[in-house]
Amino acid sequence: MKPAPFRYHAPKTVAEAVETLAEVASDDGRVLAGGQSLVPIMAFRLARPRHLVDINGVEALRRLAVDGDWLSIGACVRHAAFHKPVVDGPLGRLLATVVRHIAHYPIRTRGTFCGSIAHADPASEWCLVAAALGAEIVARSADAMRTIAAREFFQGVMTTALAENELLTEVRLPILPADTRFGFYEFNRRAGDFALAMALITYRMRDGVISEPRVAVGGVEAQPRRIAPAEQALAGRPAAGATFEAAATALAAAVDPLDDAATSAHYRRDLACTVTRRALERAAA
Ligand SMILES: Cc1cc2nc3c(=O)[nH]c(=O)nc-3n(C[C@H](O)[C@H](O)[C@H](O)COP(=O)(O)OP(=O)(O)OC[C@H]3O[C@@H](n4cnc5c(N)ncnc54)[C@H](O)[C@@H]3O)c2cc1C
Repeated sequence: MKPAPFRYHAPKTVAEAVETLAEVASDDGRVLAGGQSLVPIMAFRLARPRHLVDINGVEALRRLAVDGDWLSIGACVRHAAFHKPVVDGPLGRLLATVVRHIAHYPIRTRGTFCGSIAHADPASEWCLVAAALGAEIVARSADAMRTIAAREFFQGVMTTALAENELLTEVRLPILPADTRFGFYEFNRRAGDFALAMALITYRMRDGVISEPRVAVGGVEAQPRRIAPAEQALAGRPAAGATFEAAATALAAAVDPLDDAATSAHYRRDLACTVTRRALERAAA
């Protein structure tokens, strides 16, 4: 099947993009970034936008740079940009570890980091990273700019705080201190598929015990989020098997798993426990 007819707009600047969006958003106008989620659903006619605002010609949105304590990722930065560490230290290594779990190579050369954030699939790896690390999401409309914290941005399955006339221009991730340890573990049925469950952990060690733990899961609930009881089970404890088991068990008790025909909530809760324990083991290795 071919997509339903639409009008194509190709702005060259951010100002042009948001002005075009202001005109067409209420007439089912959508941003086109890498097209790796939008185009397939258009081809199935599950989405029939009447206007596409293609941001690929906006040079300023290709920016990927460190601004003080933040890594700034522009709206046209592709997944593949992260195959090699983009910054020294744990953040660059973390992103290079996670990116290999996103789809397949050709998709990673087109799909964008910010497109994944805007699309907000519960099983998106970048959404998990944003939730775990406390990303800041920058949104612009024709007359305003605002910064949204990741915990407020993700509001449900493919539902975000972004208004229909807003362009997500960049996502900022905090640069992690050099001694930050991280562990990522994802389970899916075939390589390249969306995760059925995944966990991302970061923490530091202080005087032989865990400090500043972050524990987040994705693919389990309607949106990725940090799980406080699991973090409490880690803080101030040694990085050892019994601690990890307690944190994973606390996490499994705290989540409200999605339930669908292929994967029951009961199974997802078990998976959440397993991926968390394995991510913790990887962080400690
Ligand atoms: C076979 C296959 C497997 C995949 N597997 C995975 C996977 O394992 N993990 C994963 O995370 N993803 C996966 N994806 C999705 C892929 O990562 C997409 O690239 C990503 O979800 C969306 O990014 P995009 O740049 O392609 O966005 P698009 O498809 O262009 O847009 C997606 C949605 O976000 C909106 N949007 C995009 N950018 C902006 C912006 N800057 N401002 C406002 N709105 C915006 C669009 O209007 C649209 O509604 C897979 C895709 C395919 C086809």
